[in-house]
Amino acid sequence: MTTVTFAFAPVAAPTLPVRGSGERLPVHRIYCIGRNYEAHAVEMGHDPSKEPPFFFQKNPDNLIVGADFPYPPETSDVHHEIEMVAVLSKGGKNIAVADALACVWGYGVGLDMTRRDLQGEAKKLGRPWEVGKAFEHSAPCTEIVPASQIGHPDHGAIWLKVNGEEKQKGDLNQMIWKTAEQVAILSRYFELQPGDVIFTGTPSGVGPVKKGDVLEGFVEGVGTLKIKVA
Ligand code: MN
Repeated sequence: MTTVTFAFAPVAAPTLPVRGSGERLPVHRIYCIGRNYEAHAVEMGHDPSKEPPFFFQKNPDNLIVGADFPYPPETSDVHHEIEMVAVLSKGGKNIAVADALACVWGYGVGLDMTRRDLQGEAKKLGRPWEVGKAFEHSAPCTEIVPASQIGHPDHGAIWLKVNGEEKQKGDLNQMIWKTAEQVAILSRYFELQPGDVIFTGTPSGVGPVKKGDVLEGFVEGVGTLKIKVA
């Protein structure tokens, strides 16, 4: 085996912790589905019934676990989006819906933090979304719980409270595109890999956060995410 010699030190590869275990999951990419709950699509000004799914990406090193969310620069309108997160341990191309859940290793609770003002400007100008979606610390997440323990959640409450006040509320059964369908559709466009992470969409009620806010998110059967805006 050849030893790799780097010309400069590499940045540490991102990982996610496993609940109740010392193990960590290596992270490859982060895919996020847009407007996957009908009521959220409507609140963003779209008709969900006419829209095939679309995806965007965050950077793997945008994940944070167990740390505060630092209010990001160059924005005055940062929104919370509570989401169930799926982590794959198997990938492939053109995965059938019936085979897709066998690729999912486990689930967590995540926040797709969004610089809504920058995203809105990008939409208006037909520009890419990275400045709105794929910035540092934009993907807070909990420890991951193995599907071997909890199964593959397809119904149950998903909500987010800000300073104890309920802001977002839905049920996983309101997802327009189910987890298995998301894996299958993504695999037609990308070759999925072990360590790919999917943010599966947010229910309605997204809104702004400010420094000092405490966000508490919940996905039934998966867990609770508590994080402070610093
Ligand atoms: Mn989202």
